[in-house]
Amino acid sequence: MPDHQFDVLIIGSGAAGLSLALRLPGNVRVAVLAKSRIDEGSTLYAQGGISAVTDPSDTFESHIADTLDTGVGLNKPEVVRHTIENAPAAIEWLVGLGVPFTRHSADGEPDGFHLTREGGHSTRRVLHAADATGRAMETTLVDETRKRPNITLFEHHIAIDLITGAKLGLADNRCLGAYALDIQAHRVEPYAARTTVLATGGASKVYLYTSNPDTSSGDGIAMAWRAGCRVANMEFNQFHPTCLYHPQAKSFLVTEAVRGEGGRLLLPDGTPFMDRFDERGNLAPRDIVARAIDHEMKRLGIEYVLLDISHKPAPFIKEHFPTVYARCRELGYDMTLEPIPVVPAAHYTCGGVVTDLQARTDLPGLYAVGEVACTGLHGANRMASNSLLECLVFAAAAAEHIGATLADLQEVPQLPAWDESRVRDSDEEVVVTHNWDELRRCMWNYVGIVRTNKRLERAWRRTDLLQHEIHDYYSNFTVSSDLIELRNLAQVAALIIRSAQLRTESRGLHYTLDHPFTDHARPPADTILDPHTFEQDLVRKAG
Ligand SMILES: Cc1cc2nc3c(=O)[nH]c(=O)nc-3n(C[C@H](O)[C@H](O)[C@H](O)COP(=O)(O)OP(=O)(O)OC[C@H]3O[C@@H](n4cnc5c(N)ncnc54)[C@H](O)[C@@H]3O)c2cc1C
Repeated sequence: MPDHQFDVLIIGSGAAGLSLALRLPGNVRVAVLAKSRIDEGSTLYAQGGISAVTDPSDTFESHIADTLDTGVGLNKPEVVRHTIENAPAAIEWLVGLGVPFTRHSADGEPDGFHLTREGGHSTRRVLHAADATGRAMETTLVDETRKRPNITLFEHHIAIDLITGAKLGLADNRCLGAYALDIQAHRVEPYAARTTVLATGGASKVYLYTSNPDTSSGDGIAMAWRAGCRVANMEFNQFHPTCLYHPQAKSFLVTEAVRGEGGRLLLPDGTPFMDRFDERGNLAPRDIVARAIDHEMKRLGIEYVLLDISHKPAPFIKEHFPTVYARCRELGYDMTLEPIPVVPAAHYTCGGVVTDLQARTDLPGLYAVGEVACTGLHGANRMASNSLLECLVFAAAAAEHIGATLADLQEVPQLPAWDESRVRDSDEEVVVTHNWDELRRCMWNYVGIVRTNKRLERAWRRTDLLQHEIHDYYSNFTVSSDLIELRNLAQVAALIIRSAQLRTESRGLHYTLDHPFTDHARPPADTILDPHTFEQDLVRKAG
C-alpha cells in the first residue's frame, strides 16, 4: 500500500475544491492538496460577489439571457441553464454553512439579501459580503473543512503530474492519483486515489500583469493536457482594466465602481482619452476600456495610465472606496488629492479542461471543477460574478457523481516512487527566474488584449524555444515549485497562443487586428485542442 491512499484526491483548496470536499459523504477518505496556505487562491480575493436569482422580481430566464448575451454565442445553453437553476440551492448551502452575506436591514432587523448589480447583469442579482465576498466564503469553507475528520489537508504541497494507467503501462487508462512535492520537506511522494479532482484555479499568471495571486499558474490545465485531456477556448482571457501600478502592489484591483462614480482615465500628461474610443467614455464595458488603455500604452510607450477621482469630495471617496483608499495610502498615493497609476491586468481564464455536466474530463477517474475547467458556461466572455457560482454548482454535481460511483471503483495498486535519479540541485535559479519573466512579458506584449497574426507567430516561436529550454532543465535537475510552475506556465502559454491562432475572427475577449469582426457567416464554434492530435495539427499547419 502506498503511504497516501485516499478515495478522493482534490488538488486545490479554493471555492471549487473545498466545497466539493464538504459535499462528499462523511465516510469518504478525502485528501486536499494546496500548494500554498490552505486559504490562498483567487477565491480569497473575490470582491464583487456571487450571482443567483433570489429576488422574486428576477427570473432564471433573465439570468440565462444575460449570460448568453455576454458569452457571444459560445456558451452551451444546457450548461448555462443547469448552473443558473442550481444557483439558489448553492446560495442556501453557503448560508447554511454560515457565510455572512450582506442583508438589507429594516429597523435594525436583518431582511432579504442586499443585491448589487454588475456589468452584463440586467438587474440587481449579485449577493455579496460587503466588498470581501471571497474572503467570507473561503474562510467559512476552510473552517468547516477543518472540522471534518474524513478530510486531510496538505498545505504547501504542489502536485507535479497526474499518474495514469497508461503511464504505468496498464491496460485500464484511468487517473490513479498524482505526484506532489512537499515544498517544506523537499520530498516528492505519490498520492493514490480512486478518483482525482483538479480544482487548481486559472492561469492568469501567464501574463506579466495580473489581478490573480501567485497560485494561478495553470497547473491543472497543464497536468490534464499532459495526461491526455482536451482543453478548450484558451484564447479567451479576461483582462480587468484597472489594477494599481506599483512594484509592491503586485495584483491589487481598483474596482470598476471608481469609474462608475465619476473617475476618469487620463494619460500621464493629464489628457483624457476614453472618448476617442467609445461614446460611453469612461463607462464603456470592461473589454473596451482595457483595449483602449492597452492601445495608448503601446502607442506612447508608457508604463501606465492614470485614474482620477480627486475632483470628488474626500469624504465621498473614503466612504465609497475604503479598501482602495487605504491600500493607495499604504503605497504613498492619496486618491482624494491626486490620480493613481493603473494598468490592465489578466483577470480570468475562460477556457480550460473540457468537462461535462458532472465535471468529468476525458480521462476516467479525473474531474475538473472551478476556473481550471471549461464547462461551457462562459463562452467567449465571463459575466461578472458567474465564476464563484460555477465553482459551487459544479462541485456539487461532481460530488454527487463521485458519491454515486465510488463504490464501483477498486483501490489503486501500489504506485511507483518518484524517480529520484534527478538529484542534481540547480545553482541556476536565475535561469528559472529569467525564463519566467521572459515568458510573462512575451505573453503580455504579443498575446495580450490586442492580438495580430504576426505577434502570435512571434510569441509562438519564443514560447516554443522556452519550452525546450525548460524541458531540458526539468529533465536534469531536482524539481522545485518555481520550476514546476514555470513548466506549466510555458505549456499553458503555448495552448493560449495556438488557440488564438486558430480563431480567425474577433469574438468576446479575443480581439485581433487581422480579423477585427465577429464571423457571423459560420456557426460559432469552440476552439478545442486535443493532445493526441496536437503535433499532427502543427505539422499540417506548417505544411
Ligand atoms: C481579485 C479578484 C476578484 C474576483 N472577483 C470575483 C467576484 O466578485 N465574483 C466572482 O464570481 N468571481 C470573482 N473572481 C474570480 C473567482 O474568484 C475565481 O474564478 C474563483 O475563486 C476560482 O476558484 P477556484 O476554486 O477554481 O480556484 P482558486 O480559488 O484560485 O484556488 C486554486 C487552488 O488550487 C491550488 N493549486 C493550484 N495549483 C496547484 C498545484 N499544482 N498543486 C496543489 N495545489 C494547487 C491553490 O493553492 C489553491 O488552493 C475574482 C478573481 C480575482 C483574482
